Amino acid sequence: MSAVSAGVVLVLNSGSSSIKFRLIDPVAGTAVVSGLVEQIGEPDSAVADHAAGLRLIHQRLADSGVDLGEVRAVGHRVVHGGTRFHAPTLITDAVVAEVSRLAELAPLHNPANVIGIEVARADFPDVPHVAVFDTGFFHSLPAAAAAYAIDREVASQYGIRRYGFHGTSHEYVSREAALLLGREPAEVNTIVLHLGNGASASAVRGGVAVETSMGLTPLEGLVMGTRCGDIDPGVLFHLNRTAGLGVDKLDELLNRRSGLKGLSGVNDFRELLQQVSHGSSAATLAYDVYIHRLRKYVGAYLAVLGRVDAIAFTAGVGENVAAVREDALAGLDGLGIVVDPQRNRGGNGARIISAEHSRSTVLVVPTNEELAIARAAWQFV
Ligand code: ADP
Repeated sequence: MSAVSAGVVLVLNSGSSSIKFRLIDPVAGTAVVSGLVEQIGEPDSAVADHAAGLRLIHQRLADSGVDLGEVRAVGHRVVHGGTRFHAPTLITDAVVAEVSRLAELAPLHNPANVIGIEVARADFPDVPHVAVFDTGFFHSLPAAAAAYAIDREVASQYGIRRYGFHGTSHEYVSREAALLLGREPAEVNTIVLHLGNGASASAVRGGVAVETSMGLTPLEGLVMGTRCGDIDPGVLFHLNRTAGLGVDKLDELLNRRSGLKGLSGVNDFRELLQQVSHGSSAATLAYDVYIHRLRKYVGAYLAVLGRVDAIAFTAGVGENVAAVREDALAGLDGLGIVVDPQRNRGGNGARIISAEHSRSTVLVVPTNEELAIARAAWQFV
């Protein structure tokens, strides 16, 4: 590591059985080391628990020649901030207790985030730990976009509303998009399409999120690797009554056996494309449903925003699959959106892929949630 570095931030993303880590120089904006510890707590795994996982990360950092004394802050990705947290938050015991309480809203994610926070605080007791919430950017959703049209009292008693997720990515990408246009985020209206394993869209007006496709949980919205996205809730009642599926089975069906996987048997987009090219009708249908849903959201967000300056594609699929970008926006010339096929298929990194005369500029913007988290944590150093 360079001797002039002012210090680095360790960014942790703790899942139920994994910890992703990245050591970042927030000033230079570069990653020093990154990696993943998997199979935590699984049978036959050498990594018994998250504490052991973090010891392994320590070891890996030391092995790569990192001086752990240079870690000046730890940034934690936290999935659900509820209505309580939106800005990056310095972690105290009270914050940990509150994040644990929010596990009600994110039972799969928040408990794992809390375990990661606890072990890291014990490991790095002398530096600030900062929580960055996946829901944070969407706290600004107007009531008309955040409310579900259900009984108000039930909604308020149980915290039922649209929270949105992937917020760190949507915020980062919408800002980068404005930079690429050479304009202030406050002047730019953007549609961000975050297409990874999970997928979500957002409408951002002048740097402020006004719509997003995920709701109370990350299940709503676009077609994803294994999640169905939008679905008539009546399907659940019907399956419960006719197939006898209980709530856990339905949860598993919609979260793990739906989306691309449900339609085609594969959730990885690379495999899906391969099967499409081999003429699989199931894979072709999955691709078509995916694209159709994406187009519907683009159209909806055009209407929400009125004027769209930028449409930014990001994450694994958004950054790498030219066909998805082309197909999702094909035939929208009348709405001022024209992708340039050459630009779309060539180049790499952040770039413009629309034609010169396109009213909305279409962009590819690689996301970097870890850098955004590192920068947020750095504010507390
Ligand atoms: P996560 O939501 O897990 O962060 P990513 O943003 O890494 O996911 O996106 C993962 C998805 O992107 C997978 O479906 C993967 O197949 C797809 N993907 C990544 N790179 C490519 C590529 N070069 N071509 C096609 N698909 C890709």
